[in-house]
Amino acid sequence: MILVYKIIEHIKKSEMKDILKIQSAVLKATHDFMWLKEMTQLMPVMLSSVTDPLAHDVFDSSIIYDGQRLELTKSMILHKQISMSRGDMKGIYIVSPNIRLERPECKDSGRHLIEFSQVDIELKDATGEEFRKFMEELIVYILSFVKKECKEELERIGRKIEIPKTPFKVYDSVKLKEVYGADYEKIVSEKEKEPFWITDLYREFYDKEDPISKKHLNYDLIYPEGFGEGLSGAEREHIYDIIIEKMERRKTDPKMFEPYLKIAKEGHLIPTAGGGFGVERMVRFLTGKKHIREATLFPRVPGEGIEI
Ligand code: ASP
Ligand code: MG
Repeated sequence: MILVYKIIEHIKKSEMKDILKIQSAVLKATHDFMWLKEMTQLMPVMLSSVTDPLAHDVFDSSIIYDGQRLELTKSMILHKQISMSRGDMKGIYIVSPNIRLERPECKDSGRHLIEFSQVDIELKDATGEEFRKFMEELIVYILSFVKKECKEELERIGRKIEIPKTPFKVYDSVKLKEVYGADYEKIVSEKEKEPFWITDLYREFYDKEDPISKKHLNYDLIYPEGFGEGLSGAEREHIYDIIIEKMERRKTDPKMFEPYLKIAKEGHLIPTAGGGFGVERMVRFLTGKKHIREATLFPRVPGEGIEI
C-alpha cells in the first residue's frame, strides 16, 4: 500500500470547487427529476445481513457486531427489491454509499473506487426497456441542468457538454465480443461519441433471464470517449424457484442469503427493473477527468492507501 495523496493539496486544488459544484448540480437535478416522476427517496443502509454478491471478486468487507456477521453494502439491490414488495410505490431511489474492496490491480482503470456513491433506482412493473428509457430521460435532464447552471465551471475546466440524442444505441454483448474480443467494452467506449447501452451480460442471480432465448435481461450504460461503464442494472428475477436455480448455476451459497430467500419464498417480491449510476463516475465524465481520483474530494482508489 502506498499513500499517494497529500490530501490537503488535493482538496485545495483550484478546480476542485468547480468539480464539487458540478457534482452538486448532478444531485440537485436527480432529486428534481425523481420528484417530478413521483419516485420515493429511501435512506441508504450500510450494514446488513445480506448484500449484493457482485459478479466479480472483491476482498471481504464484513464485520462482526454483537456476535452477528454484517456486510457493508456493496449495492442496495436486495433492499430495493424488498422495499418494492410493498407494491404501492411507483419507484424508489437512494443516494447509496457502497463499499467494494476492489483488487489493487484496478488502480489504473481510471474508474474504480473502493468507496463510492451510486444513485440506485428501482421501478415497479417495468421492463428493462422501460427502465432504460427512464434513465435516458434522467441523463438528458441532468446534463441539460449542468450545462445551464455550471457554464463558468465547465469553461474553467475546459469541458463542453453535448446533450445526447435519445434513444441511446443498444448493443448486444455477445455480438460485440464476437467482433472486438474480450475488451469490447473499452474499445466501443473509445469509438462512440454518445452514451450507449450494452445488454445481455453474464451476472448475478437477481438479474432475470428470458425463459426462451436465455438472454440476460440486464444492461450497462457506457459513457463514450473511453470513460466506460457508468451504470449497471436489470429486470429482476422475483420467483423463488428460479432464484434458487440461478444461485446453483452461479455457485452462490444460498446460506449467505437466507433472510432474502425467506422473503422471496413467501412470495413477497414483485416484478421490477432498475439500476444504479455511479455519482463519481458521472462527475468524472462531465468534467472529462482521466482518473476518477481527480473528480473526487476524498478519493478511495484501490491500492493507493487512504490518507484521511
Ligand atoms: N445497482 C445495480 C443494480 O441495481 C447493481 C450494481 O450496483 O452493480 O443492478
Ligand atoms: Mg457494473
